[in-house]
Amino acid sequence: MNPSGTVIPGKELVREMDVAAPRYTSYPTIPVWSAADSGEAYAEVLRRHSADTPLTLYFHVPFCSTICHYCGCNTAKLECNAQTAEYAEALRQEIRLIAALLPERHRVTQIHWGGGTPSTLNNGEFTAILNLVRQSFDVADDAELAIETNPMTCTDEKLRFLLDNGFNRFSIGVQDFDPEVQQRIGRNQTYARTAEFCRTIREHGVRSLNFDLVYGLPTQNLDKAGDTMSKVVDLSPDRIAVYSFAFLPTLRDNQRNIDTSLIPGTDMKFDLYLLTIERLQQAGYEMIGMDHYAKPEEELAVAWREKRLRRNFMGYTTKAETDVIAMGATSISDVSGYYCQNIKDNAPYFESVRAGRLPVQRHMTLDTDDLIRRRVIMDILCNGIVLKEDVSKRFGISFEDYFALELPRLNPLIEKGLVVNDARAVEATETGRFFLRNIALHFDNYLDGRKGPNAGATFSRTV
Ligand code: SF4
Repeated sequence: MNPSGTVIPGKELVREMDVAAPRYTSYPTIPVWSAADSGEAYAEVLRRHSADTPLTLYFHVPFCSTICHYCGCNTAKLECNAQTAEYAEALRQEIRLIAALLPERHRVTQIHWGGGTPSTLNNGEFTAILNLVRQSFDVADDAELAIETNPMTCTDEKLRFLLDNGFNRFSIGVQDFDPEVQQRIGRNQTYARTAEFCRTIREHGVRSLNFDLVYGLPTQNLDKAGDTMSKVVDLSPDRIAVYSFAFLPTLRDNQRNIDTSLIPGTDMKFDLYLLTIERLQQAGYEMIGMDHYAKPEEELAVAWREKRLRRNFMGYTTKAETDVIAMGATSISDVSGYYCQNIKDNAPYFESVRAGRLPVQRHMTLDTDDLIRRRVIMDILCNGIVLKEDVSKRFGISFEDYFALELPRLNPLIEKGLVVNDARAVEATETGRFFLRNIALHFDNYLDGRKGPNAGATFSRTV
């Protein structure tokens, strides 16, 4: 047991639990959604949307100054400023399309900018979009304005602009501070610049600073990871997301630049994972949900302890009852039991919004079974517990009868001491909290092809 009270799993258990599985940013997962012929289904969902449900707006900006070799995001190298001008105009067109379909002005409690590198937009482009958002929606005074940033390309002047315009949540992709690891993944992000960037953010009173870390990158070893962790802890971010490097070169051309001989083997990867979580917990961070750590006083950690954490495409959130309207190429919306993903490539995305058509490429309307299972899977991934009576009452079912096939599948995990299944709940144990995906996947009705094909989906490993 470590100082924070969570039992860190042994390496053998980690090895056993390392399987390919969805990350469940949605359920059902994107591979089972179908191609959309038009945006009409989404338009109908928006026309019927109740203003009682507040909104999260997400803007995707698919440009970066250079493309990192390990990256799995939808982004491209920015070649000239005209690209962001055209893209920003398309975002404004999409905002107008969405706002015209909603039956009344809707309240917005969260605006999240992701990518790519959103700060590739210039200040004028940001201002024009934010002004249009404020004209089209009621943005709450205490709304979260979150942005993913790169300290190496976000200048001091741009950072001051963001701070002066109310951005109050910053996420920084750190991955690893070691220069050789960075060189092998095509990055150059110095500790000095990152520290300076964090200092400026803190001086403006921002209380929400997130770092992303990745383990399993080329040439990483325990010394380098230990050094990175010391630096990370010194910078004291409020939240830290720790991801396993998903090496999928058949899906990601840029990953072919990686020298595969330098990728740590499975054994080393497990050691890196264990070192990272041990160091975070020694520093007082609490594990929340899956892959995420937060300071005990941080609102996500409080929500985890109170079992009211939720999850959407941007990560964990305390905003339980919002629908997500996403704009920009490849972005994903989650509205009233309907999911849709925008067109991935910029040119057809531009063409669609210019023609006044919602740029939907894939979508899915959830049926009752999907909604029940989504609730169960999200309860596991967000809070480590499913209260059977809550689910039974909410959906008018008997939990035990409905999941008569699934519950026995938990037995191997129960025998390993990872899950408890009793009359009240299915609940991850302290050690089981490290393997929430392994528990959740037993409630997925698509994984074994029972409900429908999953189109040969490739999923990342759980560890
Ligand atoms: S990792 Fe971040 S900065 Fe690098 S290419 Fe991907 S989105 Fe851009």
